[in-house]
Amino acid sequence: MAAYLSDLIRRSLRQLPQLLPSSCALCQQSGPHGLCRDCRQRYFHVQPHRCLQCAMPTTLSTAHCGDCIKRKPAFDATIVATDYVAPADQLVMALKFNATLTLAPLLAQLLHERVDRARKFTARSQPTLLTAVPLGPQRLQARGFNQALEIARPLSALLGIRLEPRLLERVSETQAQSTLPLAQRRHNMRRAFVVPHDALLKVRGQHIGVVDDVMTSGATLDELAATLKRFGARSVTNLVFARTLAH
Ligand SMILES: [Zn+2]
Ligand SMILES: [Zn+2]
Repeated sequence: MAAYLSDLIRRSLRQLPQLLPSSCALCQQSGPHGLCRDCRQRYFHVQPHRCLQCAMPTTLSTAHCGDCIKRKPAFDATIVATDYVAPADQLVMALKFNATLTLAPLLAQLLHERVDRARKFTARSQPTLLTAVPLGPQRLQARGFNQALEIARPLSALLGIRLEPRLLERVSETQAQSTLPLAQRRHNMRRAFVVPHDALLKVRGQHIGVVDDVMTSGATLDELAATLKRFGARSVTNLVFARTLAH
């Protein structure tokens, strides 16, 4: 029954382009795919060479950026759909602050294309389980939804990888990372998460894909990956829609 349902959901998701808004989310030109061909080509087709671990643009000759070589993050890899620059940032802001939840499947689709390419062109293994960066209960209540989870749901269906929304909990209501200078963000996140008792067996030995909307300093994702590994995860790959360029 569960297999039948997930198959049904996956088949409906293949029809996604038809369900998405009928005009381009960036230029409002009409078209059936949520994003017109011009915008897709201009903003999402050409990708810089990126650090395999943190997805920061880097030179062609190196697999890892200087920051990851100096201080190895707890996560093993990061795949992003775009840099967090105009106009792609508008999609994130509309989803997060205007609650335009219909954009989440489009962001998931753009991210899925990058994951698919990474799988084809490198020998990277696929995550065996997906989860989303959790919001603290106060922020969740104020916003009414978790944008990372909104992206993770359609992404899970597109990838055919199970989503476990409650693999991690925030143990402390941390200050919003965006309000802090970059140097303080790592400290703010320290021991902010825990794997709840009923999720312990789900984490052990898994390659976990952690979904988020934006990666800035990487401190939240680093702490999440460190927590997952402390609880027995085999490896962690971040699947993030947009990457902020300044560390
Ligand atoms: Zn367009
Ligand atoms: Zn890096």
